[in-house]
Amino acid sequence: MFEFFNEDQKMLRSVVRELVEKEIAPHAAEWDEQDKCPKELFKVFGEQGLLGLFVSPEYGGAGLGLTERAIMLEEVARHSAGFAIALMTHGLAVAAIYNHGSEAHKKEWLPKLCSGELIGGLSVTEPTGGSDLTTQATTIEQTENGFVLNGRKVFITNSHIADVNVWTGTSGVNEKGRKVLSAVLIPPGTPGLSAGRKENKLGLRGSVTGDTIAKDVQLGPDALVGKAGKGAAVAMHTIGHFGRSGMSAIAIGILRGCVEESIKFSKERIIYGKPLAKVPAIQAMIAENEIDFEAASTMLYNATAIYDRGEDAVPRLAAVKYFATEAAVTASRRTIDLMGGYGVINEYPVGRFLRDALANIPSGGTSQIMKVIVAGNVLR
Ligand SMILES: Cc1cc2nc3c(=O)[nH]c(=O)nc-3n(C[C@H](O)[C@H](O)[C@H](O)COP(=O)(O)OP(=O)(O)OC[C@H]3O[C@@H](n4cnc5c(N)ncnc54)[C@H](O)[C@@H]3O)c2cc1C
Repeated sequence: MFEFFNEDQKMLRSVVRELVEKEIAPHAAEWDEQDKCPKELFKVFGEQGLLGLFVSPEYGGAGLGLTERAIMLEEVARHSAGFAIALMTHGLAVAAIYNHGSEAHKKEWLPKLCSGELIGGLSVTEPTGGSDLTTQATTIEQTENGFVLNGRKVFITNSHIADVNVWTGTSGVNEKGRKVLSAVLIPPGTPGLSAGRKENKLGLRGSVTGDTIAKDVQLGPDALVGKAGKGAAVAMHTIGHFGRSGMSAIAIGILRGCVEESIKFSKERIIYGKPLAKVPAIQAMIAENEIDFEAASTMLYNATAIYDRGEDAVPRLAAVKYFATEAAVTASRRTIDLMGGYGVINEYPVGRFLRDALANIPSGGTSQIMKVIVAGNVLR
């Protein structure tokens, strides 16, 4: 366990753990099986002050940081990585508005998003590819009265439940003739915005993922989140810090699940007349789970502390996301192996851990893209 949490952070962890054990752990398997997002829990998390951990109190938040948000998401993901990504993505809309929105946006939307009265979503990925933002076909056209938005986004978390949506789209070309993006805020109930197909995912099934569609969506002159033409920077800052720290925290929740399940199972299972935990090869597998968990946690909380003291942490968080999400896949596969035949029986959560860990990898940028970012940084 990462050792340098302060007393308030330790207290936060125990409060969230208690909430998760009561409201999430007993239902996680059922949400996965039924592909159900427990939308009503947003208000429960909001009432506990957990949806605006990094937002300052004047906008309804707790005035803490990325570290506290990661602690919260890790605890939720220990039992439901699916619901954790729904909370995680809500936080992306909050982060985009908090860090890049106008004062009017912050005053109007953040208190309602922090309380869970409204749910947020961030629509960036398009059918032409999430890794390449330069091909965005969505258009944000300036008009006399504001902006008109047209386009289709894919793989969007909270697609069918989000009230406040932040979108990116092409808003023009720069002096070199290259497309530039802007980001806009779409208030709840805006005509022309709808949800399209809902995906039937392999994992992370406690969340809704699908298309969001904008057809002649009319937005006011104050719709821009960040400056005109700076939408890529808004998306990259938000996903680079809040998305990747969030997905890493979710992977670490899965890793902790692997450690705990492998210890529990190997102590209870009797083989050759003694607990499986006495077998040296099994001890090595448990050790590997623990080492992956320790390494990923230390990397994540080091990177969030760097962001919280005011520095850019994009390359570090790309490294963490790569390591933590890949380790969660390896550890859940390893835990399935450790359990023998029981590992593939759905009564145990480890099969879900593997499916969740696999679905975690592309969300917020693939492993290949994380390595492109890390290499780009060290080569510079
Ligand atoms: C569960 C889930 C939730 C998601 N939620 C959201 C959301 O809320 N909002 C949102 O906007 N998006 C969301 N996404 C989309 C996600 O961000 C994209 O899936 C991701 O960025 C990858 O884009 P793509 O799927 O289009 O793959 P592509 O970009 O088409 O990539 C295909 C393959 O090419 C590889 N590749 C691409 N470029 C390079 C390169 N330069 N070098 C090496 N390899 C490369 C990739 O690694 C991958 O293997 C979500 C995805 C998932 C699975």
